[in-house]
Amino acid sequence: MNALTPLPGLPAAFPPPMGLIAELTHRCPLQCPYCSNPLALESASAELDTENWLRVLDEAAALGVLQCHFTGGEPMARRDLTALVRRAAEGGMYTNLITSGVTLDDRAMAALKDAGIDHIQLSFQDIDPAENDRVGNHAGAFVKKRAAIDRIRGAGLPLTLNFVIQRHNAGRVGAMLDFAEAMQAERVEIAHVQYYGWGLKNRAALLPTRAQLDDSTDVVEAARVRLRGKMVIDYVVPDYHASRPKSCMGGWAQRFINISPSGKCLPCHAAETLPGFDFPSVRTHSLAEVWESEAFRRYRGTDWMPEPCRSCDRRELDWGGCRCEAFALTGDASITDPACELSPDHYLMAEAALESGVASPPFIYRRLKALARV
Ligand code: SF4
Ligand code: SF4
Repeated sequence: MNALTPLPGLPAAFPPPMGLIAELTHRCPLQCPYCSNPLALESASAELDTENWLRVLDEAAALGVLQCHFTGGEPMARRDLTALVRRAAEGGMYTNLITSGVTLDDRAMAALKDAGIDHIQLSFQDIDPAENDRVGNHAGAFVKKRAAIDRIRGAGLPLTLNFVIQRHNAGRVGAMLDFAEAMQAERVEIAHVQYYGWGLKNRAALLPTRAQLDDSTDVVEAARVRLRGKMVIDYVVPDYHASRPKSCMGGWAQRFINISPSGKCLPCHAAETLPGFDFPSVRTHSLAEVWESEAFRRYRGTDWMPEPCRSCDRRELDWGGCRCEAFALTGDASITDPACELSPDHYLMAEAALESGVASPPFIYRRLKALARV
């Protein structure tokens, strides 16, 4: 079915997605307590096979998708990663690998380069090596990540470094930015933990105080001035200290299709937590059908919005915030994100933020029983 052919009884098709987020696997050698993967991780045996992924990539290219983000879990746990990258590149899509970097050895780097990878985003848990390894629960991870940077630079690829910020490392944002500058990264993401999935489970151990957030914001703003034109700095704050929500995924099902390891199609990686949805699978539906499915249309645009969003002049800027956060905090995905101070539920954010002022409980690490390769 063509992307512009509406299903029977449906309105005219929405413009095609800009990006495909291919969550190839939930397997990962790290165990970050804020991982955005669901609490119920999918096993290797449930993963989509190579043939189906290749078909999905062909469909994405035909649909007009511009970017393909290979992620996980750790996408390098898939033996067929280079074949998938090659197919996406042949389809004309910009290919991005989002990796922890701990398995990016010389051979893997050469194979990815040969397959046509365009960009690599490498995540760090901290700039302090011991803390980096503690948060990911993986001894030696920092040293491996540092070596991976040299391989990426050696391959001549653009590099984004990603640092995830939480209460234990919020005071080191300046050192993270200095490191990114020294590594000549084109871009760095200073991204506070988003509290879904494992992050929500570990919220009391991770949420920074308002003062920590303000300090890190000041450091980022100063660096943006100093490094203007040299390095792009993206900054993501935690909603718990915000007065307005972020534009989650650029609006529900407006720019991205996220595909889980087993082939389930979601408007964002956390949407699986929402009850009452029948999310389509690429095993049984084409991407064009997925894009026009009821699950993808339910919160698309502004027609679904209740007050105060419906009459708000920011409704096409933040699209009412995050449906998953609304559900996580209130049990109702169809209302204004409580991160918004105009929401009658905004007090729930303030109550949760109090957790940041008490002693941190131990991490509950994200675990998947087996780390097999397929
Ligand atoms: S957040 Fe950590 S555990 Fe989750 S996929 Fe990324 S590196 Fe792995
Ligand atoms: S009321 Fe709705 S649209 Fe307006 S700022 Fe809040 S979340 Fe955004």
